[in-house]
Amino acid sequence: MASALTDKLSRLVKEMRGQARITESNVQDMLREVRMALLEADVALPVVRDFIARVKEKALGQEVLGSLSPGQALVGIVNRELAATMGEVDDKGALRAPADINLAAQPPAVILMAGLQGAGKTTTTAKLAKHLIDKRRKKVLTVSGDVYRPAAIEQLKTVTAQAGAEWFPSTPEQKPVDIARAALDYAKKHFFDVLLVDTAGRLAIDEALMREIKDLHAALDPVETLFVVDAMQGQDAINTAKAFKEALPLTGIVLTKTDGDSRGGAALSVRQVTGAPIKFAGVSEKIDGLEVFDAERHAGRILGMGDIVALVEQVTAGVDMEAAQKLAAKVKSGDGFDLNDFLSQIQQMKSMGGLSSLLDKLPAQMAAKAGQVDMDKAERDIRRKEGIIHSMTPLERRKPELIKATRKRRIAAGAGVHVQEVNRLLNEFDQMQGMMKKMKGGGLMKMMKRMGG
Ligand code: GDP
Repeated sequence: MASALTDKLSRLVKEMRGQARITESNVQDMLREVRMALLEADVALPVVRDFIARVKEKALGQEVLGSLSPGQALVGIVNRELAATMGEVDDKGALRAPADINLAAQPPAVILMAGLQGAGKTTTTAKLAKHLIDKRRKKVLTVSGDVYRPAAIEQLKTVTAQAGAEWFPSTPEQKPVDIARAALDYAKKHFFDVLLVDTAGRLAIDEALMREIKDLHAALDPVETLFVVDAMQGQDAINTAKAFKEALPLTGIVLTKTDGDSRGGAALSVRQVTGAPIKFAGVSEKIDGLEVFDAERHAGRILGMGDIVALVEQVTAGVDMEAAQKLAAKVKSGDGFDLNDFLSQIQQMKSMGGLSSLLDKLPAQMAAKAGQVDMDKAERDIRRKEGIIHSMTPLERRKPELIKATRKRRIAAGAGVHVQEVNRLLNEFDQMQGMMKKMKGGGLMKMMKRMGG
């Protein structure tokens, strides 16, 4: 899935090369791919629409700097905007880490956990207990208000022990609000810093569930009300988030199961709908599988981009597909391959960011092989050849057979090389021309395609 998008984006990046500015026309195709990527990652449609509109506004008319193509620049804008939407930004618009759990309350600070059944509430309750014990040296009590599933109460007991926190017993006969009040009372008497309240979830939103959790909120007055949501939840995440936001003043989000194989678009939808910060991400089933949410990393994941994209872009950005295709058409039509074509090949090699920088990006095995070649010398060589061809007249480039002794001397002098070097280049060109004739049947096109990605 990720690699398909990678291919598409890099193709578009290539097509946009050479245009100096992001415009209405060149941005269209790119944004269509981004929209598809977001939908594939399960970002809800209205959120996608909003997002695309914002990116377009930011991107249009932006000058593209230096070696970037409009396509690359747009990828950068999309990535930054995604991260900024899911993450927290400071006054200057720079991304910053989300705030840790707020404990600024008369102890015990109460944390209420909300979310659908199976979202990972119980697991996350224990993970947070461990986090508060290990990182903030707090004395933590947990309690379950899930009176509908005795197994859920037992589950909390087990994971609380793993976290090294204390568990407050409850039974299915009790009312959730009574359980919560008793736990709060106990926590006060025994000087706990934090009380984590796990709640019942349903498979879908229902009135009774929402009333119950609202009552719990009113009784406990929690300093944090965390919405726990499964990163693998698809388009429906937006509706779940809406329902919980309407019922409760959410203060934060925990995105669970980010170790799954979904692209995690729920994060964007949920962040947008609730306006609450995504504080943590669940990264495994284990008790220590909780990390501070990293918006930048998650943005890359949603777009399906990684190191591969960086590599593909560097390699393909240097290849002028239009020129390559013209050349291929020329050979095919039998028009012949001249020194202008030879020059453009040389220049393409050069514009691939330099041979040695490309070498850094190759897989180790290939790099070791390529490393046996003296890269500096190869690059110097390319520059000299370029110099020689530049010293020729347009006619000489088109008809190299005209280049006899006196012309060779003039060219050599112009390029500051020996005549032998001009001879060597003409020999190479002869060989290349012979090869091109053999490949007339379309072999070159295939070769160029391979080069172009
Ligand atoms: P609850 O019904 O909301 O309390 O959900 P649970 O805490 O029982 O979690 C449901 C399932 O999801 C359990 O099998 C958990 O082990 C699993 N789970 C929760 N969080 C994560 C996570 O971050 N990564 C993975 N891989 N599994 C998780």
